[in-house]
Parts: sequence; structure tokens; C-alpha cells
Amino acid sequence: MRLFLLGATGNIGVQTLDIVRNSNDKFHVVSIAANKNINLVKEIIKEFHPKFVSVGLLEAKNELEELYPSVEFGYGDEGLIKAATYGDLGEDLVVNAIVGSAGLAPTYYAIKKGRNIALANKETLVIGGELINPLLKEHNVTLIPIDSEHSAIMQCMNGEDKTTVKSIVITASGGSFRDKTREELKKVTVKDALNHPNWDMGAKITIDSATMMNKGLEVIEAHYLFNVAYSNIKTVLHKESIIHSLVEYNDTAMIAHLGNPDMRVPISYAINYPERVEYKGKPLDLISLGSLHFEELSFVRFPMLQYAYDAGIKGGLMPTVLNAANEAAVQLFLNGKITFLQIEEIVIKCLNIFDNELELSLDSVLERDNLVKDYVFKTYS
Ligand code: MG
Repeated sequence: MRLFLLGATGNIGVQTLDIVRNSNDKFHVVSIAANKNINLVKEIIKEFHPKFVSVGLLEAKNELEELYPSVEFGYGDEGLIKAATYGDLGEDLVVNAIVGSAGLAPTYYAIKKGRNIALANKETLVIGGELINPLLKEHNVTLIPIDSEHSAIMQCMNGEDKTTVKSIVITASGGSFRDKTREELKKVTVKDALNHPNWDMGAKITIDSATMMNKGLEVIEAHYLFNVAYSNIKTVLHKESIIHSLVEYNDTAMIAHLGNPDMRVPISYAINYPERVEYKGKPLDLISLGSLHFEELSFVRFPMLQYAYDAGIKGGLMPTVLNAANEAAVQLFLNGKITFLQIEEIVIKCLNIFDNELELSLDSVLERDNLVKDYVFKTYS
């Protein structure tokens, strides 16, 4: 199997390479794309010998070109798309582990080329679901989610008649500030926010977990992945992160997927699909766990979740507005420009300002994404 790994130096990318490293040459890395971590790019080139490498900036591309004359290089948005569509068509899998809306275009063009996708970039479906789904059918392409909740849901649906699904239940850990009141949230710092109790993740998604936007994006992602109405997608607070999600059937049976929080499990499932391959992770010990807890996920405590449902139900460009406002706001928060609670203020403001009138296309989505981000950066920087 030939892998085209986008976001190779990020949290999911590094864990994907770890699975590849331990897979007895089942996978060959043909291309990688990364942004700024050039030292790690060099290590990946030495170990995995990709034929094509794309990085964020032209200067980095030029530096690498001198060091590795036998490797082809690209950069920026164009390089990213080339990394996804590089070379001829074979037994291929694009692993999209990019963070943010930048992940949409490479997925779009990879599907057009006829390449199967393992998707960690939830934004592809959040902002582009209405474009991606018909494209998958047209090109007979399989898209397997890496997001742990969606991997769980997919596995809970294996072999079942989809028309018997009554609802899906997405679990949420509650993030770094689960036990804080809204009053206490006024003073939290970037450092506090980046300290997630269960999952080891990148900065953007850790902040999104604390605001519950991550769960909101996952609701929209689930809608497009499993073709389930928003009224039948539920969320529940489950602080242990042991049940990764559940599916409820028309006979009241619920099927759950359990495991220790370890992203290598859904990564391995997605890249080996439809095979299930041995992975020597930590086994789940039910006795030492003892009990699991579930609570209502409050829309008052976590308004971002409500914003996400509303934007998802409106559809069209509204999920793009939601996501772009959030991406820009999280970046401003990480850079110390705004407070934690201003993230949600910015998101609701953008949802009220920007309308839904344009026809949906890759161009209109990317244009709207830029417009919203520009607005947020100009207004709050
Ligand atoms: Mg997730």
C-alpha cells in the first residue's frame, strides 16, 4: 500500500508513521506534506524515503532541495495538493492529518484522482461535506474516518442495516475545563487550556475540546459521514474517554466501542481497512476501571455546541463560517491576543454577520473561509 501523508509532522502524522514503522513494509510512504517543522521533515526523509515532499514555505523548500537532490519538493497550497495527487494511480491511500480548512482542497483533488482517503482532517467534511459526498460516489472512492468517535461509530455499524440506526451518540471528555463554571472560564490561560486530561493532541484540537467546538465539528462530520439527521445525533459527557461513541438501533439495542484513549487504534483501523491488524497497545482493564460515567452535555455551559448544530442544520456555507471564525479565534487565543471566552464571542458574531447566499463550490467555500478569517484577524489583532 502506498501512502500519501499530509500533515506528517503533526500529532496524527507522527503516530501514523509509527504504525507504518511497525507494519513490516506493508506501507510505503510516497509523499509527505508538512508545514514548518523542517527538522522532523529531514528525519522522515531519511527514514521513509518519500519521492515527493511539500512544506509550508518556499525558503524551506529551497533549503531541502539542496540537501536532497533525489527528492522532488513543493510548497504552499499547490505543494499540498501535489502531495495528495502525486504520481500514477495504484494501491493508494491518502492520509489527511492536516489541521484546519487547508485540508479540504487536497482531499477534494485526491478523490477526483480516484485515491482512497483516511481522514483525520474533520474540516474536510465540516466545510466541504456537501461537495465531498457526491464526489466520493462519482469516483468510487472510500473515505475512512480517523477521528476516534467516528471510527468507533463506523465499527458499531459494521454489518448492520443502516436503515435500522435510530441515533448515534458521540461521547465527549469535556476537555481541560470540564469542571469549571462559566465565571471561572473568564480567567483561564493558554497553558491551562492546553492541559487535556485524557488525550494527547495538537494545540488547536485541545483548545477546541475545551470550548466544545471540537464536539460541534464532530457532530457535523458525523452527519456527512453516516448520513444521519442532526436530530438523531446526540452528544454525552463521558469523562473517562473509554467509550468512544455508540450507535442506537430500532430495537433499543445500543452498540458501543470501548478502548483506552490511544489515537494509534483508529489510525491503524483506518489505514488497514477493511483488515483489522494486531496492535500492541495497552489492553483495556475493565476491573481496574470499575465504573464509567455519563452526564448531559449542557448547551448553556458549552454554547459552541449549539452554534455548531445550528450552522450544520443551515448547511451551505454556514459550517464554513463557523469553522473559519473558530480557527482564527483559536489562533488569536494561542497568540495571547484574546481571552478564552472571546473565542465563542467571535464565532457567534461571525455567524450573525456572514450570510449563506453563495452557491456551494470548492471556490466559494475557500473564498468564504478566507473572508471570515481576514475579518477576525483584522478586527481582533
Ligand atoms: Mg475526536
